[in-house]
Amino acid sequence: TQRFIWPMAQFGQIINMYQRARASSARIFGLMDEPSRIAEDPDADELVVGDGDVAYDDVTFGYDESETIVKDVSFEVEGGETLALVGPTGAGKSTVLKLLLRMYDVDEGAITIDGQDLRDVTIPSLRRQVGYVSQETFMFYGTVRDNIAYGTFGADDETVVEAAKAAEAHEFISNLPEGYDTEIGERGVKLSGGQRQRLSIARAVLKDPEILVLDEATSDVDTETEMLIQRSLDQLTEDRTTFAIAHRLSTIRDADQILVLEDGRVAERGEHEELLERDGLYAHLWGVQAGEIDELPQEFIDRAAR
Ligand code: ADP
Repeated sequence: TQRFIWPMAQFGQIINMYQRARASSARIFGLMDEPSRIAEDPDADELVVGDGDVAYDDVTFGYDESETIVKDVSFEVEGGETLALVGPTGAGKSTVLKLLLRMYDVDEGAITIDGQDLRDVTIPSLRRQVGYVSQETFMFYGTVRDNIAYGTFGADDETVVEAAKAAEAHEFISNLPEGYDTEIGERGVKLSGGQRQRLSIARAVLKDPEILVLDEATSDVDTETEMLIQRSLDQLTEDRTTFAIAHRLSTIRDADQILVLEDGRVAERGEHEELLERDGLYAHLWGVQAGEIDELPQEFIDRAAR
């Protein structure tokens, strides 16, 4: 289920956060997807991103104490590289990336960006420099223009249109009843998953973050739209540290590193060819994705369920 619009009860909360964020920073949070349980250290410094190196060091996390979801996950990504996360549904891919946006704090271990622990930097400075693209990206009641500009302070109309063009969204926006002034949400126009994905790409293009978190769409788009999205994403991820929950074969194949998660742990890692040769979980997931085999062999399903 995609949460497109927050329930009204939560909307006041967003406005409140919005105002607080504006007061503390020239820009506002790029993303607030879930109620936040984290607290900012009063001595927190601004995050300063140089190369954009990211490291997870023995990261362990659970949403509640009864269950650990992410288990001892370690990896390093160099600035500009792309790391693809793959694994069965429920393996913990989104959770691993939510930790990078600091929607939650790790229980054990540490995550650093260019050597700075996420817990030591201000949240607005983090959210400003780490962009998030997904069909589930938070949209609010308002115009298409405002939704694209969300997270970027003082964007003028022309730059918003440029960003929409880069995201292959300009055409469908132009066909909406009032173009960029069209209201979206329950009282306005309802957008398809593919359209939301492109608005979220446009928002990221405008924001131009140093680090990008990409939750690729699985369905809900036709082949032509898929190709358009692919083209815009390829541009967006170039020369930018990118983390992708990867469904597109091209992202997976061309990633500098692939991390295969199974039940919250790193099961395999490497580049595409290396992992195919191992003939393990990755090779089989790839086989399914590429249509070479119909379904994941039972042994992997059994393992994931353990
Ligand atoms: P993936 O992205 O690989 O499909 P997720 O990170 O979404 O996996 O989910 C991993 C596990 O964490 C699942 O068992 C899921 O039910 C659980 N989970 C995800 N989000 C929450 C949440 N907000 N609260 C509690 N449990 C969650």
